[in-house]
Amino acid sequence: MSFDHEKFMKGVGLYEEANRRRDNLEFDFAFSLYERAQEFLYKRIDIPLFYDMALAADLSGDLRKASEYFNKACLSLEQMKAENPHDERIKNLQPLVDSLAHQISLRSLVENDATDYANQVEHKVWPQHKFPLTIWIADQASHQNGFDKSDSDLIYASFEKWVQRCQWFQIARANKADQEIAKINVKQAGPGDLQSGSGGQTNFLFNDLGELDRVDIRVYIPSPNLQSLILHEAGHALGIDGHSPYSDDLMWWKSPLINISNRDVETMKIIYGQ
Ligand SMILES: [Zn+2]
Repeated sequence: MSFDHEKFMKGVGLYEEANRRRDNLEFDFAFSLYERAQEFLYKRIDIPLFYDMALAADLSGDLRKASEYFNKACLSLEQMKAENPHDERIKNLQPLVDSLAHQISLRSLVENDATDYANQVEHKVWPQHKFPLTIWIADQASHQNGFDKSDSDLIYASFEKWVQRCQWFQIARANKADQEIAKINVKQAGPGDLQSGSGGQTNFLFNDLGELDRVDIRVYIPSPNLQSLILHEAGHALGIDGHSPYSDDLMWWKSPLINISNRDVETMKIIYGQ
């Protein structure tokens, strides 16, 4: 089979569309696109493709099918290593496959009817006296890694969504000049700030008393689904350090959802003893 670049690029287009359909929860459509994409891709990007198919299957609630694609990704990686142990791509693909392995192992340990996942995550609790949590969002006019107005408003609205469901939280939007004293800082990620395959990152900082004192959030722009990404990072910033093993929760590691699930809320309640 000779390599046809045009055909390959068509495959890439189908693959990207499949991911969009997956994130839109159109699973059957997504799978038909993944399969069509496969025919055009000449096995050149099998590992990311199987990874995305495993995510789609897990998201649809089909753990068996997710494991099947996870195994395919592992097998392709082993083959790549056997053919050329010095292949440059291995160092990027290994973490992808490892993260999938971790997720699949988590999933097999949990019960599907659980109403929370508080035992699966670390608890990062804001002390009451730090309320209201002031949120500073970098703005494009004064920061290289700032957001435009509609993105900043979306970011603040994501925190408000959590407050609506978890009413003990109090938040306030920090003034432009108050970056240093704000409790939560949100900026765009620069090159190299994030782990590969990740759209956002939240870091927790503690004061000398061991209290949670500040949280920094970095998000990658343009993001295919900023609303979901920022709502998820806000969940981390407010106390959930880790991920839900359930794909129907916003705090699932790759969630495309734009709503906070009851299980997410129950988990936050347990963390705060509410
Ligand atoms: Zn996360």
